[in-house]
Amino acid sequence: MKIAFIGLGNMGGPMALNLKKAGHDVSGFDLSEAARAKFAADGLTIAASADATLEGAEVVISMLPASQHVESLYLGETGLLAKIAPGTLVIDSSTIAAASSRKVAQAGAARGIAVIDAPVSGGTGGAIAGTLTFMVGGTQADLERARPLLEKMGANIFHAGDAGAGQTAKICNNMLLGILMIGTSEALALGVANGLDPKVLSEIMRRSSGGNWALEKYNPMPGVMETAPASKGYAGGFGTDLMLKDLGLAQETAAAVKAATPLGGLARNLYAAHSLAGHGALDFSSVLKSLQKP
Ligand code: NAD
Repeated sequence: MKIAFIGLGNMGGPMALNLKKAGHDVSGFDLSEAARAKFAADGLTIAASADATLEGAEVVISMLPASQHVESLYLGETGLLAKIAPGTLVIDSSTIAAASSRKVAQAGAARGIAVIDAPVSGGTGGAIAGTLTFMVGGTQADLERARPLLEKMGANIFHAGDAGAGQTAKICNNMLLGILMIGTSEALALGVANGLDPKVLSEIMRRSSGGNWALEKYNPMPGVMETAPASKGYAGGFGTDLMLKDLGLAQETAAAVKAATPLGGLARNLYAAHSLAGHGALDFSSVLKSLQKP
């Protein structure tokens, strides 16, 4: 299949590579020169622009930071939806506001272009290994069209509901993740300040009632888990500012239905303070730094 892939960042790059490895003809583009160079070196075909990726594309996939990037890529007179051939399937895997996903899906439908929101969970490790979880919003028929490609990038595919529903599911999940990373960091910092070995404490909690995804796969304490961003200077991974964006989306979603999300609100504020302290570009597990003596 001929696939256009736009947004070759920490997630999009490895996802595009998995489609290429599966035998698809992938043409990728990113605004960042560094991202283009990195994935060209990994063997991905890089187009000169987002428009140029569309040539002959049967499916367009995007993996961009936030709502404004997705809306400006697809919408308006110069947006991609005005250039993509009717009948093409668009899969947007960025984590954005559900309202933005619905806007893009409606604009696509008006031109005969099916658009599904398919945000992911599983981190950069999952993107590289092809084991992501996809949460899809859109029609069942469009999900079935996308499924063979999603299966090459992920291990779990869920239909959350109509357009935008994938985003709502993703925001609920990431609010929980943001909270549990802070809780995990808090517990580890407390133990270490009291003389415990972080590896021993992590293993105790992992196998006890405090066990969670951060302790299993993404330990925030440097040196505990070789593969985690914490052991690589918090580089790569899932940026603090992206987590901050997701917690902001969660609060907007909560306000719209008058839901009580006290810990989600507190978590947003803690990541905001962590970002203001200069850590916005570091992986979100670096929030541990805000809870520990330097
Ligand atoms: P990233 O910042 O590493 O990558 C985003 C890329 O998009 C950048 O390389 C940027 O240059 C590019 N870009 C922005 N606007 C563009 C445009 N108009 N055209 C082409 N390229 C453009 O971010 P990421 O970590 O890959 O995350 C992407 C999305 O996935 C975000 O919405 C994030 O919330 C979500 N997500 C990330 C993770 C993670 O662990 N990193 C996990 C799940 C979901």
